[in-house]
Amino acid sequence: MATATDRAVNVREKIYVGGEWVKAGGDGVIEVINASTEQVMGSVPEGTVEDVDRAVAAARSAFDAWAATPVPERADWMARIGQGLAARMDEIAALIAQEVGMPLKLSTMIQAGLPTTTFNSMPKLLEEIAWEQQVGNSLVVREPVGVVAAITPWNYPLHQIAAKVAPAMAAGCTVVLKPSQVAPLNAALLADVIDEVGLPAGVFNLVTGRGSVIGEALARHPDVDMVSFTGSTAAGRRVAEAAAGTIKKVALELGGKSPNVILDDADLQQAITDGVGKCFLNSGQTCSALTRMLVPRSRLAEAEQIAAAVAEHFKPGDPFDSSTVLGPLVSEDQRETVRKYIAKGIDEGAKLLTGGAETPAGLDHGYFVAPTVFSEVTPGMTIAKEEIFGPVLVLMPYEDEQDAVRIANDSVYGLAGGVWSGDPERAKRVARRIRTGQVEINGGAFNPLAPFGGYKQSGYGRELGHYGLEEFLQVKALQL
Ligand code: NAD
Repeated sequence: MATATDRAVNVREKIYVGGEWVKAGGDGVIEVINASTEQVMGSVPEGTVEDVDRAVAAARSAFDAWAATPVPERADWMARIGQGLAARMDEIAALIAQEVGMPLKLSTMIQAGLPTTTFNSMPKLLEEIAWEQQVGNSLVVREPVGVVAAITPWNYPLHQIAAKVAPAMAAGCTVVLKPSQVAPLNAALLADVIDEVGLPAGVFNLVTGRGSVIGEALARHPDVDMVSFTGSTAAGRRVAEAAAGTIKKVALELGGKSPNVILDDADLQQAITDGVGKCFLNSGQTCSALTRMLVPRSRLAEAEQIAAAVAEHFKPGDPFDSSTVLGPLVSEDQRETVRKYIAKGIDEGAKLLTGGAETPAGLDHGYFVAPTVFSEVTPGMTIAKEEIFGPVLVLMPYEDEQDAVRIANDSVYGLAGGVWSGDPERAKRVARRIRTGQVEINGGAFNPLAPFGGYKQSGYGRELGHYGLEEFLQVKALQL
């Protein structure tokens, strides 16, 4: 069986602008590192501000014709891209398993499956848009926002790209994509697919490079009408500041520290087993990961036992081994950050139930961190407040339902959450009190058509499904 170590190096020497692969303005190169072998697995050009100007100009000149393209034709283009991605699912899954480190089986379902689903969902979503509505003596029409800059992170790289690029193009916008420099090769693969289907030149453009250069230049650019950003709260704040100069529309999908409230009448074994999995998915590198598990103090000892036992089943290993459920972290930097948080948890007096900052036995290559669970974590502790982005779960005891809701909402973030109860109506009542964009009830499944996005410092705007498509439309009133 081919392993992560013997895969060919994937060198990309060009950016995609105006329907062609072209040389970037500078000579800089960004190396891409395989998360489990620590070897260079490929590279992309380090784009320049001039490359941004070229790409925005291409998107601008393609805009009028694309915006005027009949909706059913745009729907067909999106479906063709969806088919192109579907035909390359295995390649995408293996590529992202190396770039990010997610186990191959999960990578196939999530990293390759979701982007395909998103492109394929566009024809139906387009049919459901009310393109024209009569309001009194006005005709309210929906129009594409314009040129969209999409800036994306590395954790679910192609999913996050598709969640912006597909609805933006479906809506009639043209796009300049700046993918994460940590996992950019999948974005080049998408550009290959778009090139193969023959999408009109300039509708989709790709500039690889650094956030501080390419991302900022896009956010500031006077010819960009909207910037759609997914990433950290710190970088999102910079993007909003840079975009403010030209008052462009901004959508921000940022970090989280999501609470999972296990009420006293819940099936503890089931709730905790599901909750540990929701925290450790993609080695904890999930913005909506349920990282704070709130348990009734009266059942804390039982909860600790279950959580530690379940966590110990998540043995880290090679993403290409079919039995692996927990891969490495994406990078050396990310591993160091997570190790520091674990050390801080211990320093601040949290009770370490399992795991820790040491390298897991037998895994000297790859950015592995042991699945880690803390208990007796209080709201003031750093590991209860900050996004760790690693396989680290904190158990927080609460006194009663009111206290649970208070702790759940005691966060600057508001992205996701969970509630578990033996009584689904009670769970729904509590879920309505949680100030986050999504709440799953008794392990309710992820819905790729449900609106996804944040309250508070988790951002603003929504992605996916109908609400995600509406983000890329302006409304105009014609008085009759
Ligand atoms: P990051 O903020 O470092 O980078 C995200 C993107 O922004 C990258 O393309 C990067 O190059 C670019 N960037 C960085 N600084 C910039 C700047 N000053 N101006 C413009 N662009 C800039 O985030 P990351 O490390 O790639 O991803 C992890 C973070 O993303 C976590 O905080 C996670 O919670 C968040 N995230 C949020 C969601 C969501 O939907 N809410 C989804 C996934 C990840």
